[in-house]
Amino acid sequence: MSTTLAVHEAARSELGSFGDRLIGPEDGSYDEARTLFNAMIDRRPALIVRCASADDVAAVIRFAREQGAPLAIRGGGHNGGGLASVDDGVVIDLSPLKSVTVDAGSRTVRVGGGAVWGEVDAATQPHDLAVPTGIISSTGVAGLTLGGGHGYLSRRHGLTVDNLLSAEMVLADGSRVTASADEHPDLFWAIRGGGGNFGVVTEFTFQAHPLETIVGGPTFWAIEDADALLAAYREWLPAAPRNVMGFFNFHTIPPVAEAFPEELHLRKVCGIVWCIDASDEDAEAAMAPMLSAAEPLLHGVGRMPIAALNAAFDGLYGPGDQWYWRGAFLREIPDQAIAINREWNERMPGFKAGTHFYPVDGAVNDVPVDATAFAYRDSTWSQVFIGCDPDPASASAVRDWTIGYHEAVVPYSAGASYVNFMMDDEGQGRVKSTYGPNYARLAQVKASYDPDNVFRVNQNIEPAA
Ligand SMILES: Cc1cc2nc3c(=O)[nH]c(=O)nc-3n(C[C@H](O)[C@H](O)[C@H](O)COP(=O)(O)OP(=O)(O)OC[C@H]3O[C@@H](n4cnc5c(N)ncnc54)[C@H](O)[C@@H]3O)c2cc1C
Repeated sequence: MSTTLAVHEAARSELGSFGDRLIGPEDGSYDEARTLFNAMIDRRPALIVRCASADDVAAVIRFAREQGAPLAIRGGGHNGGGLASVDDGVVIDLSPLKSVTVDAGSRTVRVGGGAVWGEVDAATQPHDLAVPTGIISSTGVAGLTLGGGHGYLSRRHGLTVDNLLSAEMVLADGSRVTASADEHPDLFWAIRGGGGNFGVVTEFTFQAHPLETIVGGPTFWAIEDADALLAAYREWLPAAPRNVMGFFNFHTIPPVAEAFPEELHLRKVCGIVWCIDASDEDAEAAMAPMLSAAEPLLHGVGRMPIAALNAAFDGLYGPGDQWYWRGAFLREIPDQAIAINREWNERMPGFKAGTHFYPVDGAVNDVPVDATAFAYRDSTWSQVFIGCDPDPASASAVRDWTIGYHEAVVPYSAGASYVNFMMDDEGQGRVKSTYGPNYARLAQVKASYDPDNVFRVNQNIEPAA
């Protein structure tokens, strides 16, 4: 009997109470249930189990261990390397755990381990509150948070993990714990950047911040102006106050008639996507140095709720595309790097490819490197190299472009990548480098909480000997 069949047969008897929340290859819902955000990744697990409680999670961990089957954890299923699933193994699918509860008085938000950020925004925005998150609202709360989490509010309020108050977890032995500053502080330290290495988070509690509306949206310029603009941006951004955020990018204007003037369709551009928490006048003054550095082709900026900005690009970057990523932390952007970035983007492999320079200065830099597992606290930007295209035939072109571009920029970078921008083929050396001086302590915490490396379908931290 194949491993898949054996696991599935055992599950039917041992996990029978899960009913149709137990999904295997012979079930009609299998293909939909195993599909990941990144269509380049096609994994065939033996079993997907939709878990609705911590007890469910504990039962599935116990079952997978008895079977000796690899175990994956699925939050939002967005991970570039497809680490929410595993061939011939068992997937804990947390999608039923989506509740979001806002306590407006204490400005705290409790979020189920299977929620996506749009669901958090939908609950917090009516209270004029926001939890710092990323730039696409269909991204899972769990994976983004456990890797660190940066986005529009990072300069002001820090990483998503800097706003995490506690996490309810199920550990490798099936026990349940709360990780916080007061309870299991070593575990709490490790999950703030160390990914899903230490247990399954069934609920997060975040600190939210008052935020009614922001001035946000993109400005695009001709790619021919990129050298002058990026040179201006590298000076402007670090000097800007923390309520002013703008991430520099290279893109192609999408051929979307409702969103962009037709004469700009498929034109290669550089741009800034803004998020400024200020009056209209102050926001204009903050953007002015960049807007005067070259004549924009398009200035699509306006006042909106932060939830609207968080979802503004969801339609463009939905599920089902081919994705290949690389990442790099940057402390500076020297002249040579500016030219390299422009040249690689002049030959983007498709209209969804490009690069973003996310600011991780300001409040992110305030937190000491050893205070959480996230180690690149002295960087100014976290750059992502985005190989993306809808056509499966473009997969290898997208991959080659991303790897080539990344390798060209590495000599000018801080030498490591944000863990959430890594693929599944980058190797243990890259995992160690993203944690830098924190890796040894992470390996110790791993040895305490998961000595058998049950949670290894991730950017893996091996237990210390
Ligand atoms: C279009 C797009 C935009 C993005 N933008 C940003 C951004 O602005 N900022 C940013 O910081 N990141 C961003 N990311 C990266 C994102 O943070 C990662 O892809 C992240 O892994 C997604 O989380 P998820 O829950 O959807 O992942 P999944 O694919 O479900 O899981 C990712 C990893 O987390 C583990 N995991 C998932 N859920 C749990 C849980 N409950 N408990 C324990 N471990 C768990 C899994 O085992 C896996 O190793 C973006 C990704 C995409 C595709």
